[in-house]
Amino acid sequence: MAKDKPETVAVHAGHMSAEHFGAVNTPVYRASTILFPTLDAMESRDKPYVYGRRGTPSSKSLEDAVTALEGGTRTVLCPSGANAIATAILSVCRAGDHLLMVDSCYNPTRIFCDKLLKRFGVETTFYDPLIGADIEKLFKPNTTAVFCESPGSLTFEIQDIPAIARVAHAKGASVLLDNTWGTPLYFNAFAHGVDLSIMAATKYVGGHADVMMGYVCANASHAERLHATHDELGLCASGDDCFLALRGLRTMPLRLKQHQENGLKLARWLMARPEVECVLHPALESDPGHALWKRDFTGACGLFGVVLKPASHEALSAFMNNLTLFGMGFSWGGYESLIVTSHTHRTAKPFHTDGPLIRIHAGLEDADDLIADLEKGFERMARAS
Ligand SMILES: *Cc1c(COP(=O)(O)O)cnc(C)c1O
Repeated sequence: MAKDKPETVAVHAGHMSAEHFGAVNTPVYRASTILFPTLDAMESRDKPYVYGRRGTPSSKSLEDAVTALEGGTRTVLCPSGANAIATAILSVCRAGDHLLMVDSCYNPTRIFCDKLLKRFGVETTFYDPLIGADIEKLFKPNTTAVFCESPGSLTFEIQDIPAIARVAHAKGASVLLDNTWGTPLYFNAFAHGVDLSIMAATKYVGGHADVMMGYVCANASHAERLHATHDELGLCASGDDCFLALRGLRTMPLRLKQHQENGLKLARWLMARPEVECVLHPALESDPGHALWKRDFTGACGLFGVVLKPASHEALSAFMNNLTLFGMGFSWGGYESLIVTSHTHRTAKPFHTDGPLIRIHAGLEDADDLIADLEKGFERMARAS
């Protein structure tokens, strides 16, 4: 049988209509206690659901859908993307281990390594995102995992994940990936050698700026320890949030197409502006990561970086304040456009810009309307300079 395309999987995976009177969507299960009919049933624990924290049909539907879309073996749901990252790392590290972490990681990931992991006796070395197979030189006898994020948060470098995975696996180490930007639609983590695929489902899975959620999907060799760690940490996601995330997942392929198209249109327009030094977007032919992106990715989402020419705080405020369609706020992946200033925290390979670094999330509005909004912002900026 031919394998279904991701668009088809996203629509159908995880359905439990037959168990719910034909309702298309699995209803919200709000449950802590699950009652057993008899002493034998309670002691054998062979029911599919035994306690709210350990799963309900709401979480099972979402887990199954994610596992199918990722092409993995098992998925665990976490209360946030940041927590999913921590859970994945804890499942492959013990005291005395060494972790290789990409220098362009999401900053809370860096903080987790520098603070909590260090406190529990795991040492982290941050590495240049462009290191490729040379990562071999950074391995120590106790290196147990390599963590990747591609493209990098804020700076958008594309990593050579297959090259890194080949080295890591030859050394017996696990490969973890924060795949929030690529999503399983545009970057197939397991096909490129990843063992644990992590996503901040808060972003494109939820897709509507109203749910906090993370997941980790494991391949066969990592499923058991991932599940055990998740259970030992006592993690779960609420039925309401599972419902919203699964509802979002159903339309994620369609939304991503539009985010991609709008993002590229804005990126190309910005590249031609005199106020812009450069645009950080791997799907642009001029981007240093474009060749690798083209080899490994099948699309781009709506998130990219822009380096502006040096501008005063007043000029930047004039540009960003009073935009009518771009909101200023953290997170991304919702249907609305966003703009924020970015500050990097690098230690392995500093990332320097002369002018301000900003990050744009292209939402689902009409792209020309978005461009008009930015254009007015640049006019205000010129008047304030
Ligand atoms: C937002 C984000 C996270 C964290 O997700 P939360 O749900 O906000 O905790 C992790 N990784 C990346 C790349 C992100 O952009």
